[in-house]
Amino acid sequence: MKYPLLYLTISFVLIAGCSSDLYRSTNRSYKKQVKIYSKLLREYPVEDSLGLPYADNWVGTTNFTMRRPNFVVIHHTAQNTCDSTLRTFTLPRTAVSAHYVICKNGTVFHMLNDLLRAHHAGVSKWGNATDLNSMSIGIEIDNNGDEPFTEFQMNSLLQLLDRLKRAYNIPQANFIGHADVAPGRKVDPSRYFSWQTLAEKGFGFWFDTTNTEVPVDFNPLQALRIVGYNINKPEIAIQSYKIHFVPQDTTNMINDADRKILFDLVKKYQ
Ligand SMILES: [Zn+2]
Repeated sequence: MKYPLLYLTISFVLIAGCSSDLYRSTNRSYKKQVKIYSKLLREYPVEDSLGLPYADNWVGTTNFTMRRPNFVVIHHTAQNTCDSTLRTFTLPRTAVSAHYVICKNGTVFHMLNDLLRAHHAGVSKWGNATDLNSMSIGIEIDNNGDEPFTEFQMNSLLQLLDRLKRAYNIPQANFIGHADVAPGRKVDPSRYFSWQTLAEKGFGFWFDTTNTEVPVDFNPLQALRIVGYNINKPEIAIQSYKIHFVPQDTTNMINDADRKILFDLVKKYQ
C-alpha cells in the first residue's frame, strides 16, 4: 500500500467514530474530570488536607509511584444489555461505575483508568478493609442475575484478570465478589458464576476436602471471618459464603460439609 500510515489513521478514525459519537459528551466529561485530578496531583507544595501549615516545610521526595489497586471485585450488572449498563455508568445521577464491563459476546469496555477510583462496591467490608472502592478494580459482567454467564465472557474475564494480576501484583486471595464484601445487601455475581474456574487459574482459592478431618473445637464462624467475611450478622455472611463456595445450597446453615470446606479454606486465606 502506498500510504500505510494514512490508511491506518483513517481506519482508526472510522472505528473510533462508532462509539465516540454515542458517548462524545460523556467522554468529554471524563477528560474534564481527569484534568481536575491532574491539577491536584501537580499541586506544589501540596496543601495539607487538614489545613495544617506544613507548606513551608515542603521537601518533595524523588522516589514515588502511583498507588495501585490490590483487589478485584467482580459483579453481575443485573441489567439486560451491555448498552443499558454503559448508559447507567455514563449518567451522573446514577453515581455508579466500574473499570470494566464485559458483554455477552466477550467484548470488554474499559471505562476508567485502573489508577482511579470507581464507584462499584458501595458500603463494603473485607477483612479490615472498609473502602474497597479505593483499593480495587471493579469488573461488571453483563448478566441479569438469573442466567448463566457466557463462555465468551468467562474467556475475556480470565484474560483481563491475568493482565490485572500481573500489572498490579494482586494476591490470589484478593479476587472476590460483590456479595462477599457486602453480605445481605448484594448477591452478585450470582450462583451461576464459577469461582472454581477462576481459582483453578489462580484468581481466588478453592477447597479440597479429600481426607479433611475437622477438629471438634473448630469454629466455622471464625473461619469465615479469617477468610474475609464480615460476620456481624452471621446468617448473611453464611449466605454470601454459600453463593461463592457452595452455590447449589440455598440454606444459611453451616453443615458438616461446610465445616470441612471452611477448615480447608481458612488455611489458604489466612
Ligand atoms: Zn455489584
